[in-house]
Formats: sequence, structure tokens, C-alpha cells
Amino acid sequence: MHSSPQDEQFRRTIREWLADNLTGHFAALRDAGGPGREHEAHAGRLAWNRHLAAAGWTCLGWPPEHGGRGATLAQQVIFYEEYARSGAPARVGYLGEELLGPTLIAFGTPAQQARFLPPIAAVEELWCQGYSEPGAGSDLAAVSTTARLDGDEWVVTGQKVWTSLAVEADWCVVLARTEPGSRRGAGLSYLLVPMRQQGVTVRPIRQLTGTSEFNEVFFDGARTHGSMVVGEVGDGWRVARATLAIERGVATLGQQVGFERELGRLVDLARQTGAGEDPLIRDRIGRAWIGLEALRAHALRTLAADSGPGPGTGPSELKLLWSRWHQELGELAMDVLGAPSMAARGAPYDLHDWQRLFLFSRADTIYGGSDEIQRTIIAERALGLPRQARA
Ligand SMILES: Cc1cc2nc3c(=O)[nH]c(=O)nc-3n(C[C@H](O)[C@H](O)[C@H](O)COP(=O)(O)OP(=O)(O)OC[C@H]3O[C@@H](n4cnc5c(N)ncnc54)[C@H](O)[C@@H]3O)c2cc1C
Repeated sequence: MHSSPQDEQFRRTIREWLADNLTGHFAALRDAGGPGREHEAHAGRLAWNRHLAAAGWTCLGWPPEHGGRGATLAQQVIFYEEYARSGAPARVGYLGEELLGPTLIAFGTPAQQARFLPPIAAVEELWCQGYSEPGAGSDLAAVSTTARLDGDEWVVTGQKVWTSLAVEADWCVVLARTEPGSRRGAGLSYLLVPMRQQGVTVRPIRQLTGTSEFNEVFFDGARTHGSMVVGEVGDGWRVARATLAIERGVATLGQQVGFERELGRLVDLARQTGAGEDPLIRDRIGRAWIGLEALRAHALRTLAADSGPGPGTGPSELKLLWSRWHQELGELAMDVLGAPSMAARGAPYDLHDWQRLFLFSRADTIYGGSDEIQRTIIAERALGLPRQARA
């Protein structure tokens, strides 16, 4: 991507800010909280994120009238590059900042925007995404959680599952059926529900990494105000799909820069272990580097052309490319580590960061829509193949 003098100035500003601020007690947070390590230093990372926010380094791409910087795509990429290079810890407000915020900017009422965007930008309220259910994952339109109006409040009943970061979340986006007897996408609404109330129970699910990035969430008569519907009542399917397109598109920018850092660390590891002398490992590292360059070029081209929710297949292509790339990086890391990759670092299940990355990356081809679902989208929308039979 072409870098203008303004972009280069922007790069210097963020680089200097990070160098000046990732110091003192924040210095200990370097590299904390990568894939499968979301439990690490949560309180410290929250404080760091609020510090970033106070200096205006959150929600960069949001328009200034909504509390962002109105940063261009190039500047957002620069921010993520410098952020990753500085070793700053993984961010905690991702779901609000990257998914709900842009959705509210596109579909929310002025009152919803005024209520929710400032605390997202300030990292004062954390969010989780309650789409998936035991009977509705890839087939998301099968959602059966219900919400009915009781006076001026919605009463929500049902179960969500695989809800990332629900333990820390203050609010949840709940896709719920608000029209009794409706089917599929019709009759669903996109509700904002407070998590800290009696009718909400969160049960962490232990994952391969030994930690619990995701959870079961039970809504048993949970309440939220009648005004907490984004978009029209019954039109939640359209809003939910827009959030998914954002999740597979522009929200992946930061993640990809994280990949660059992971690959850099893996090259260092290969030097240390001597694995870098093995011609087959060198070959795979070279391929990983080329894959990342291709991924980056594709992301920038797609996002520049299609930076918002839309019908294109660019987000699906990106999702497919990065998910396989990252899984292969995890597999390569295990081979670079060699025999030590086979055992926990300590009893009973203290895993090395590379082991966590390898194990967590198994989920990359599932969350945000599985690879099979992305290929179906491409087959139908880009290639015009016959539509798959729907339930
Ligand atoms: C780490 C992680 C974090 C997650 N975080 C969240 C979250 O925060 N909020 C949330 O709502 N959800 C979350 N999810 C859930 C995720 O979106 C679902 O797991 C995903 O959509 C798949 O749904 P499922 O697990 O029910 O699998 P299923 O839909 O049952 O699919 C099982 C397998 O069948 C394949 N399959 C299904 N249907 C088809 C088809 N029509 N054609 C071809 N193949 C098909 C799938 O590709 C998959 O391989 C998360 C998942 C993971 C792994």
C-alpha cells in the first residue's frame, strides 16, 4: 500500500507513543494474551487498553463524530503494524471495538450510539457475541432463543454456546426470536442484553488449551429495555449478517499483523533450535512468509474495495486464506520445537505458548463461520453454482 508523508508521520507518532508508554508497570505486559492465552494478565491488559483509549488509540477507523479518529485503512494498518512490533499485549475490547461498534454506527439509533459507543471506545464496557446455540451454529437461522416484550422490557430465554469472553463481558449481543412461530431468518431481532443480572448464567468451557476462551451462556428470563433492539424488530438477521461480514473483513487487519509477529518469533525459534538448518523446515518457513505476503496483499486489495458490510465474497476469501495459513503456522511451530512440543512444560497442563497457539488455531477454521460455509458462499455468490439445499 502506498505510504504518503502524512502516513509516515502517523507511523512516527504511534511508534513514539508506544515506546514512551509501554514502560513502567505496562512493560511487564509485553506479548501477554495471544491465541489460547486470553486469560493472561486480564486486569493489566484492561488497564493498558484504557490507557490507550485515553490517548485516543482505540476505534481508529470510527468516524470522529462517533469518538474515532476517522483513520484511513492505510493508517489502521500502520497502527496495527506498530502495535504488533512494539510487543504491546493483546487487546481486550476487540468485540466491542471491531464488531459491535461498527454495527451500531451502521444500524443503531442516535440514542444507542450515544449510550454505547463512548464506553466501548473508552474500554469501560466489554462485549460478547451471543449468536451460536447448541442447535444453531453454521445454520445460524435456526436460532431458538426467544425474547418477548413484557411492558417496556424484553424477556430473554434460551441458551447460547461458544460465547467468547462472556466471563468478562458486561453486555451481550443476543440474536433472538422475537416473533413467536416465525422461522429461519424472519422474526429474529438483534438485542443488547446486560450480562450482570440474575437471569444470566455463564459457564466456562474448558478447551484444548486448558483455558476457557469461550462459554455457555444461559438466559433464564433475563431482561433488557425495549429500546435495546438494533435495527427493526424482526430484522435482526440482516444486522447479524452485517456484523459477520465485518468479522470476516476489516476486523481481521489487526489479527494479520499479529501473524507477522508470530512468524518473526518462529524464525527466531528456528535459529535457536537449529531447526532452521533443516531444508524441509526452511522450505515451510519460506512458504509461510510467501503465504503471509499474499494474505496481506489480498486483504488490502479486498478491504480497500469493500470496507463495509456487503454482499461480496471478499470476506469469505480472506477468512479461508488466513484460517488455513494460521493452522499451518501452528503445525510448523510444533515441528520447529521438535520433541519438546510433545509434552507439557509443567504439571499438570502448563503449556508452552507455541503449544497453545497450535491447539487454539484448530478453531480458526470454525469460528466466524467454518471453512465449509465460506466455500459454499463463494460457490454460490461468486461462481453461480446451484444453491445448496437449506434446512
Ligand atoms: C474458538 C471459538 C470461538 C467462538 N466464539 C463465538 C462467539 O463469541 N459467539 C458465537 O455466537 N459463536 C462463537 N463461536 C461459534 C462458531 O461460530 C460456530 O462454532 C461455527 O459457526 C460452527 O457452528 P457449530 O460449532 O455449531 O458446528 P456445526 O454447524 O454443527 O458444523 C459442524 C461441521 O459441519 C460442517 N457443516 C455444517 N453445515 C454445513 C453445510 N451446510 N455444508 C457443509 N458443511 C457444513 C461445518 O463446517 C463443521 O465442519 C466460536 C467458535 C469457536 C471454535
